[in-house]
Amino acid sequence: MVKKEDIYTIKENGQKLLDDYRGDKIYGVCFIIMKNGEEVYEVMMSTVGDVCNCPGYTNHSKCKHIKMVLDSFKPGLEPLPTS
Ligand SMILES: [Zn+2]
Repeated sequence: MVKKEDIYTIKENGQKLLDDYRGDKIYGVCFIIMKNGEEVYEVMMSTVGDVCNCPGYTNHSKCKHIKMVLDSFKPGLEPLPTS
């Protein structure tokens, strides 16, 4: 049995203004992470850091989705890794 590889794509989701835990305004640009054509998580690149709403980021403050978004900005790279 061959395991099908997941295809990840990124969709810009505009700019947002959020309240952080201190009540300060955070301004950032949001990106929807799409897995096999379905929206799964949202990454926000903000003025105070990058966040993601996936379980991995929520529990460990790091995840692969932020890296996907960052990598998508780098010129001359191959398509995003699917692992
Ligand atoms: Zn994530």
